[in-house]
Amino acid sequence: MEKNIFEKIRDGESPAEIIVKNEYITAFKDIAPNAPVHILVIPNKMIPSLSDIQEEDSIYISKIFLAIKQIAEQLKINESGYRVITNCGKHGGQEIPYLHFHLVGGLPLGTMISLPKSSKKIFKKQHDVE
Ligand code: 5GP
Repeated sequence: MEKNIFEKIRDGESPAEIIVKNEYITAFKDIAPNAPVHILVIPNKMIPSLSDIQEEDSIYISKIFLAIKQIAEQLKINESGYRVITNCGKHGGQEIPYLHFHLVGGLPLGTMISLPKSSKKIFKKQHDVE
């Protein structure tokens, strides 16, 4: 089966601006950043999404969060703060089927979730909120 883009980046077969690479994780700049800092962190083991994580993967997950903490310090956004996002599946808006965590920051990021109009309408109807 053909490798997806993150597998190719992990294996050095597609170019990316690598920030950190170690035995467990690879971190690289997002090609289309949504904030001044926008880094993607992936486990070196191919896991399609958060829904696929198994008990034996916990070392990868802890190494990802340690790397995120270190990158935030390295890029000096640890004091101002930042956000970590993982999109999972269709409703989560996941485009690349390889577990990844977005580290975003460098400016105030605003509200956590911005629903599209179509979802806002359904949500308001269901919950009778403004
Ligand atoms: P998702 O929607 O799956 O959570 O996010 C995928 C992210 O991967 C997007 O933010 C997108 O900009 C980024 N991306 C897609 N293709 C490439 C690529 O070839 N290189 C890099 N560095 N980032 C990519």
